[in-house]
Amino acid sequence: MSKPLVCFPETPTSAKELIKYIKEKKTADVDWQSGKAFCLIYYPGEERSKTIREIYDLYFSDNALNPTATPSLAELEAEVASMCADLFNGDGQVRGNITSGGTESILLAVKTARDWAKKNKPHIKRPMVIVPASIHPAFMKAFHYFEVDFVPVELREDLRANTAAMEAAITENTIMLCCSAPSYPHGVVDPVAEIAAVAKSHDLLCHVDACIGGFMLPFLRKLNYPIPAFDFSVEGVTSISADIHKYGYSTKGSSVVLYRNAALRKHQFSIYTKWNGGIYGSPTISGTRPGGTIAGAWAALKGIGEQGYLEMAVVTMDATEKIRKGIDAIEGLDIMGKPDMSILAFKSDKMDIYALADELNKKGWHFERQQLPPSIHLTINYIHKDVADAFIDDLQEAVIRVKKFSVRKIANKLQVGAVKGLHKILPEGTVAKIQKRQASVDDVNKENTAAMYGMMGALTGTGDLDEIVLDFMDKINKVKDVPRSITEE
Ligand SMILES: *Cc1c(COP(=O)(O)O)cnc(C)c1O
Repeated sequence: MSKPLVCFPETPTSAKELIKYIKEKKTADVDWQSGKAFCLIYYPGEERSKTIREIYDLYFSDNALNPTATPSLAELEAEVASMCADLFNGDGQVRGNITSGGTESILLAVKTARDWAKKNKPHIKRPMVIVPASIHPAFMKAFHYFEVDFVPVELREDLRANTAAMEAAITENTIMLCCSAPSYPHGVVDPVAEIAAVAKSHDLLCHVDACIGGFMLPFLRKLNYPIPAFDFSVEGVTSISADIHKYGYSTKGSSVVLYRNAALRKHQFSIYTKWNGGIYGSPTISGTRPGGTIAGAWAALKGIGEQGYLEMAVVTMDATEKIRKGIDAIEGLDIMGKPDMSILAFKSDKMDIYALADELNKKGWHFERQQLPPSIHLTINYIHKDVADAFIDDLQEAVIRVKKFSVRKIANKLQVGAVKGLHKILPEGTVAKIQKRQASVDDVNKENTAAMYGMMGALTGTGDLDEIVLDFMDKINKVKDVPRSITEE
């Protein structure tokens, strides 16, 4: 029997040693402070962050589970919901909660819809939700957890949700239509008003996933960007999710989910009144709820305010415009659809986009690689204000290198072909030697993960890929090496 690689610590480690160890370990992570990460990180600058962090710290140990113990947190949460209801043009009837993130907001919206249907459409035994193909996989997680069927509907040519096709997919089991403002993969806002109207006419719920756009689109509308209404001002929209830890620029672990009225939100709550421990009621998925993220969310909205968000939106759109123009100017790169805010993806018919991604990674840039079709995804926010030009410079160079690289790859392919041909006339051992040489050529290019992504792409939609991904997730969540002991030098 083997022991776990890392044993439970017998003695305490000093703060000094812990901090030293972590600082060193952390150097392996993406260097987002440089502005080179176009995903995962949203940073409003040191001054704004400092305020949020200070308020967060005041609630470091507080638990929002029991509102009678921490009435201040209950109030801060209700205030955040109210401020967001106002931002999304809702009235005094709108109700909402702070959750740990977009995924929890979406899980709750789906659970609410399921339980709303149980009560209001009791004949439905297998509830079903219709979503555009571009909807965030947090929905699939929710459908999986809550055993709700779903139908993903192909997008229109412009990569927005196809309302007619969604309406055609409605059956007697349908309980809700969903859409995004905007979608994560392409940054385009779905036709919310059309979809909400269809939902209303069929007596269905309609959820708008504004997780990524919730704290950008309202400000862009104020700045006269042509953004259509996507919120409670649209009749038929019954719930909205919006992440305060994205363009709301608060600490990780804060999002809101809002409902048109209190009656709908009641389906979100979980209660048990027969427990020895007392009457138990919990508004969201977690039991214990960190006070810090709630207070932090409140501090972000209050401390930044409309004026601050407008300022950051202007700066963000300037950077986006520079990057968009830079990409447009490069022969062979195509921005997908017409992105409505500061999220965009680009692809290429002329070069291997994953090889281009490899080249950009080598220069320290970090971003998501998408599939179907292969593309590079950029989420641009306030932290990118000073890097747009540098990114475009590196992109131009990377494109030149990839074009050369493609020529080399063709040469490699010819070599492989030649080796295969030689197989027929040369003795076994010689062939093996040549093949080994070929393998070492591939090793030299090991930092180029393009081939791996290509292979993954070829496996898309097969059970094999699911197995590979599950295996990968298991491996990455395991201790790899025994960490060297922490000792002060
Ligand atoms: C980020 C995101 C989510 C999921 O939010 P998490 O905070 O990662 O759980 C859902 N929908 C969209 C459009 C998103 O961008």
